[in-house]
Amino acid sequence: MKKKHAYYDIIIIGGGPAGLTAAIYTGRAKLKTLVLEKSFIGGSASSSSEIINYPGFPSGITGLALTKLFHEQATLLGAEFKLTAAKKVNFSTQNDYTVDTFRTIYHAKSIIITAGGIPRLTNAKNEEKFLFDKGISFCATCDAAACENKTILVVGSGNAALEEAIFLSKFAKKIFIAVRKDESQLKAGKAIQSEAKNNPKLSFIWNKSVSSFNGDTYLDSVSLKDTLTGSEETLPIDRCFLFIGYTPDSEIFAHQINCSSAGYIKTNEQMQTSRPGIFAAGDIREKTVRQIATAIGDGATAAITAGKYIDSITNNLPDI
Ligand SMILES: Cc1cc2nc3c(=O)[nH]c(=O)nc-3n(C[C@H](O)[C@H](O)[C@H](O)COP(=O)(O)OP(=O)(O)OC[C@H]3O[C@@H](n4cnc5c(N)ncnc54)[C@H](O)[C@@H]3O)c2cc1C
Repeated sequence: MKKKHAYYDIIIIGGGPAGLTAAIYTGRAKLKTLVLEKSFIGGSASSSSEIINYPGFPSGITGLALTKLFHEQATLLGAEFKLTAAKKVNFSTQNDYTVDTFRTIYHAKSIIITAGGIPRLTNAKNEEKFLFDKGISFCATCDAAACENKTILVVGSGNAALEEAIFLSKFAKKIFIAVRKDESQLKAGKAIQSEAKNNPKLSFIWNKSVSSFNGDTYLDSVSLKDTLTGSEETLPIDRCFLFIGYTPDSEIFAHQINCSSAGYIKTNEQMQTSRPGIFAAGDIREKTVRQIATAIGDGATAAITAGKYIDSITNNLPDI
């Protein structure tokens, strides 16, 4: 099949909060904008049943309703949307970057990558059944309010796991932290380890991995397997938080722009990557806080900088 070619000022890869915000700004700046989304417009935020930390919605809002508003606003301002995956990119010809999709090769002067990523899973039995709203969470800031007086299991042994467990201890009654190895192999830094060990609500369970998530419609216990002996035990819990890593969706970009060893795209504060005219925003970039509020800030910055970049190449101005 011979592919069609189509031309834009800016292509945004990923229709989550960062991409939708970038589209609002580039649309408003009258740049011919295309957003490519491979699965669902709204991104990861749309799987949240209640967002209570996004400004402007004091009684909370569902992720779906919030991102629908972002989408509506971007469309009203002129951004176009295609539900298709960016399969391959070519960043070698400046001012004519290409994004290859199933039917079409899209060309643009500038590209904003907002492809996000997905939290890593344990692959234990029944995990899919309890994801997000059914008892397995990935974000303490987002879901802590639902943990008031609850018994929680945190899975993970790095800084993120312990920091989030300490944060959750302000809400929960009891928090168990399951670690696959023994105490000597905790990955978290010494200071956070000692803070966690001194917190009376936290208890470490060493040499344990989750073998199964259990419950009827909502998670009510986990089966834990001893990684040394293979024996199993059941731990009743109200909610489980997984902090075992995050996989940025950066594979198709990794060989053309600088990424960290974990696959996050490196940018400066203007969201510029190592290649002129290629920007990255939101959860896919190397940064410390991954929230809707930070994703939209990144998206706005990337769009404004990309607009200036296009101005500079169109009018032969010095580089931004
Ligand atoms: C269950 C859950 C609840 C959350 N709750 C909250 C909360 O209450 N408050 C809060 O602030 N944050 C919350 N977060 C975090 C928040 O959702 C993220 O920080 C935010 O969505 C990041 O936005 P993003 O646009 O960078 O990436 P994403 O939302 O991950 O969007 C990336 C998009 O890019 C698409 N994509 C990827 N690769 C390609 C490709 N090759 N071609 C085309 N499209 C592609 C993906 O399909 C996806 O739609 C939650 C996250 C989850 C998972």
